[in-house]
Amino acid sequence: MSDYGHSGAIEPFATGLFNAWGIGDADRNDGLLLLVSRFDRELRIEVGAGYGSTLNAPIQRIIDDVIVPQFKRDAYADGIAAGVDAVIAHVTGNIEPQSFVEKVGEKARAFIVFVIAGVVSILILAVNLGRKFYRRLRRNAPRNCPVDGSRLRKYLEETEDEQLSSGQIAEEHLASVDHDVWFCTKCDHIEIESYKAFFTKFGACRECGYNTVTGKSHVIRHATYSSSGLRETYYNCRHCHAGYSVISTIPQKTRSSSSGSRGGGRSSGGGASGSW
Ligand SMILES: [Zn+2]
Ligand SMILES: [Zn+2]
Repeated sequence: MSDYGHSGAIEPFATGLFNAWGIGDADRNDGLLLLVSRFDRELRIEVGAGYGSTLNAPIQRIIDDVIVPQFKRDAYADGIAAGVDAVIAHVTGNIEPQSFVEKVGEKARAFIVFVIAGVVSILILAVNLGRKFYRRLRRNAPRNCPVDGSRLRKYLEETEDEQLSSGQIAEEHLASVDHDVWFCTKCDHIEIESYKAFFTKFGACRECGYNTVTGKSHVIRHATYSSSGLRETYYNCRHCHAGYSVISTIPQKTRSSSSGSRGGGRSSGGGASGSW
């Protein structure tokens, strides 16, 4: 979850994700989200606001008795499949897949979203792991000196600071950008390669240009259905200590064209969580 800039409990993260995706029908609020944060060893099943608290206890039992035992032995696919089946069985009363398929429509739609949400979460995780792995491979690939063609060597993290600027060192400390320093053993050629973190709260500073700035924003004027709003963001640089504010526009609100359309469902935080 820290990869996505979240620290703390899984519950607010799940509620935020649920509402950002608008899972479930907007009128019935019958969506369900299974969120597995593999490396935090935490999971949550978040339910749409339409269920109130009626599902909390049964879903907690499914997490504790069906999913977590599988996760404890690293059988994530089995745990997710068995957990999804158990939730479907509980909410629809249907256990046989055939009768489930026949009843596709009203209730089943929610579970299809539920399954898709799980798959999407796993896909996002897989894509990120793949990107990280690929980047690590490329980062450490051998490279040659552009001056004399001899093999470059990389400074250790502990000793590279003497080659970096104060701004680059600040970026390293804030983990917004990682720098590799390569040097030639024959001549004094030095190459600095910079890798920006995929997920960081630090952006580029308007004054010094380093990725050492964080922003805090507040709404000056809320957007309505007839006019746009205004937001002011105060930026503060941890490197050059510049402080400045930027005013931006909040887009005008729009009403969804058809009621009862897919998506737009909300959660008010109901559900259950587990860890392993
Ligand atoms: Zn060289
Ligand atoms: Zn700055």
